[in-house]
Amino acid sequence: MHSQRKIKLHYGDMTDSMNVTALIMKIKPDEIYNLAAQSHVKVSFETPEYTANADGVGTLRVLEAVHLLGMEEKTKIYQASTSELFGLVQEVPQKETTPFYPRSPYGVAKLYGYWITKNYREAYNIFASNGILFNHESPRRGETFVTRKITLAVSRIAQGKQEKLYLGNMDSKRDWGHAKDYVECMWLILQHEKPDDFVIATGEMHTVREFCTLAFKEAGIDIEWRGTGVEEKGIDRNTGKVLIEVDPKYFRPTEVEQLMGDPTKARTLLGWNPTKTTFETLVKEMVAEDMKFVGKEEYI
Ligand code: GDP
Repeated sequence: MHSQRKIKLHYGDMTDSMNVTALIMKIKPDEIYNLAAQSHVKVSFETPEYTANADGVGTLRVLEAVHLLGMEEKTKIYQASTSELFGLVQEVPQKETTPFYPRSPYGVAKLYGYWITKNYREAYNIFASNGILFNHESPRRGETFVTRKITLAVSRIAQGKQEKLYLGNMDSKRDWGHAKDYVECMWLILQHEKPDDFVIATGEMHTVREFCTLAFKEAGIDIEWRGTGVEEKGIDRNTGKVLIEVDPKYFRPTEVEQLMGDPTKARTLLGWNPTKTTFETLVKEMVAEDMKFVGKEEYI
């Protein structure tokens, strides 16, 4: 798109107030989608202060710029809130009224982002809404998130370019949706008659292990699981080769064991369809795209 000059890119940095304010002053946007963040949960334990600055105070910088510039009437703001707010879940499934209990510096930084968005809405009448998005994936997902890590490894193993896949907590359960469906919902949130907060999820939950089994199946590899805990292994039923092992270095100091959202509010008020892309279709698409991607990879 931007190669056709339909999108204009600017340099921006969420940790730089003057830069954020100057950009908003110059562009005078009708809508801002604040998706900027250090978004990796494990990395947030290693860079907690940076994560707080970019994800928490960064959100404040956007809101305060709109307020300072007197653009409350013009600019709508979408804040990318997250299911990580629910962390140690207080009820299943999680909905807009479920109490938060974040479990990582990322979750805690996003908690500030959520509340400061609500506060600026109430204090200054800004059209500012939170989308509480559960995990959303696509072939463009970062390579260190578990879904993409798995589909890349599956493709490399199937093409003889990798021996094994090492994972952390395979019992962890997530509500995985397709990013393109969720982005559509972000837009719907800003077109709604009034600013509000919405859970965006599919309402279905799967383990990391299930994602793995299905991804390998897409590549024609039938996985059998043996052992438990750190000794658990995923074995190719046809060849007897161990393809998946546990490496505790991927464990987190505090884990979010399970996440499953209730998208009723978004379905009812926004007319959004939470199950447009099924779990099976998502895994299939990610493996198919990585098979092509890995096919083009060169190894020295
Ligand atoms: P998150 O839900 O935002 O933390 O997204 P991730 O894709 O990073 O992780 C999803 C879940 O998979 C978490 O509970 C992780 O602990 C778990 N998991 C298990 N093994 C791995 C791994 O090797 N890498 C990552 N990133 N997560 C893993």
